[in-house]
Amino acid sequence: MKPEEVKETVPSVKIETRAPVYYECPACGFLSADPRFGAGEVDCPLCSAPPDSRRCFPPERLRRLDGRIRTYEADGDSEIVVILVAAFLETLLEDILDRIMETRGADVAMRAAVLDAQRAVGQRISRLFPMLTKEQFEDAAEELGFRDFPKRWRALRAARNSFIHDTPYGGAQESIDAATATEAMLLLDQAYKLFVLINNRFVADPGRHERIVRG
Ligand SMILES: [Zn+2]
Repeated sequence: MKPEEVKETVPSVKIETRAPVYYECPACGFLSADPRFGAGEVDCPLCSAPPDSRRCFPPERLRRLDGRIRTYEADGDSEIVVILVAAFLETLLEDILDRIMETRGADVAMRAAVLDAQRAVGQRISRLFPMLTKEQFEDAAEELGFRDFPKRWRALRAARNSFIHDTPYGGAQESIDAATATEAMLLLDQAYKLFVLINNRFVADPGRHERIVRG
């Protein structure tokens, strides 16, 4: 089945054509989709910093990868889509954990050591995230309007794992269907929005710049 056919059977399903663009205040870490903020026409609404050197989120390397994933999706390469989206979401999670630690004043070596000690994505979600934010990831996602995201992300990881790993208890899954790839794309689109909301809640801070230790 082609992905287009799946999209037609589920009318509410709409995959974006490209990654969204957000702009970051380098002083406090606030992210905004407001084009006037990106064009440097307004000061930062959180810390009032002048509009100098605002960076784009996601960064260029992730935008390129996002574009390639969308091409694979359009070509119906469901397995590649699911594997890459799962990896992409793990990269976003690592970035947000890194940013949360940075905003707390952890230097590069410390952040790298913590992330290295917690390699597994499940541990990063269930232990590291609450340790750093004092909130469960599931609760934060729900409060920010993405209640189903953690559960759907778990299901995506399970689909990826059972395709890639030939486990003695589950048995390998021989293929990944277009519906799972569509679900992966929807999660990717949601992940950007959730990342920005988590960022603005746990990272963006007017005192951030003073605490950041450049390594
Ligand atoms: Zn700011």
